Amino acid sequence: MKTLILSHDDCLLHDNGAKIAESPSRVKAVLSATRDIPGTEHLPAPLASEEQILQVHEQDYWSSLVENEPEEGRVSLDWDTFMSRGSLDATRRGSGAACFAVDQIFEGKAKNAFCATRPPGHHSYQNVAMGFCLSNHVAVAARHAQQAHGLERIAILDFDVHHGNGTQEIFEQSPEVLFISSHQFPLYPGTGTRDETGAGNIVNIPLDPGIDGTEFRKAWSDIGFARLFSFDPELILISAGFDGHQRDPLGQLMLTADDYGWFTREIRNFADECCDGRVVSVLEGGYDLEGLAESARAHVIGLTDANQ
Ligand SMILES: [Zn+2]
Repeated sequence: MKTLILSHDDCLLHDNGAKIAESPSRVKAVLSATRDIPGTEHLPAPLASEEQILQVHEQDYWSSLVENEPEEGRVSLDWDTFMSRGSLDATRRGSGAACFAVDQIFEGKAKNAFCATRPPGHHSYQNVAMGFCLSNHVAVAARHAQQAHGLERIAILDFDVHHGNGTQEIFEQSPEVLFISSHQFPLYPGTGTRDETGAGNIVNIPLDPGIDGTEFRKAWSDIGFARLFSFDPELILISAGFDGHQRDPLGQLMLTADDYGWFTREIRNFADECCDGRVVSVLEGGYDLEGLAESARAHVIGLTDANQ
């Protein structure tokens, strides 16, 4: 069974300006690095419907984004979060890709999927845009999976170097969703300590600046995977941020593409046992184009049958 790779040219429209590391060239680098991987199929990402977006985001918030999207230039939502013409279509492609991937997998048309989209989503709250993020793609996909497929246990794994504070806020009172995040601490956005546990469904794994893959693997093996296994999810969503790579300018972790490949194989093998292999991964951060490209490639290879 194939691994879908979903993207869309609309994801190139969102323009943060030259001073911001979150740029269209990120998606181009990922697509170019994953173009020829056996066992994959590239498909266009659909737009998320407003109904899908509103399962997570408040109507007033979404309406204000729609009203504020500029015809030209940029508007600033906070110090590093902007909208340009086309930004909402870009983020709707990201959320739509994740929902479409869930549907394709439950219809038996694909084994798993990677959404090579932007802007990222995991910092976005129900009613706040922040950290480059406008709509929270993994959250929209999780709510869609509950509504459309009746799922009762969904796990979201987030290995971005930054804490997935938006995802945590959205699900911290929703024990049917397990959220496990590893992230450098301290670092933006400043949340993600061990004592933030929500309804017992939030697991934060703060990592010291400078740690390498050995410690990253040990932390996930000892803490993250143990919780994941006992939760027995019906679907696994991944917030795949590759800004923990040693080349990345925004974090100080020392991870390599091999570490992301290892993580992905571990999850894929577990998913085969617990949930028919159902994994939907969504691109979050990753701001060094070389580190991002090689990491995304290792991640996608880890998702494919050819790797096993
Ligand atoms: Zn990040």
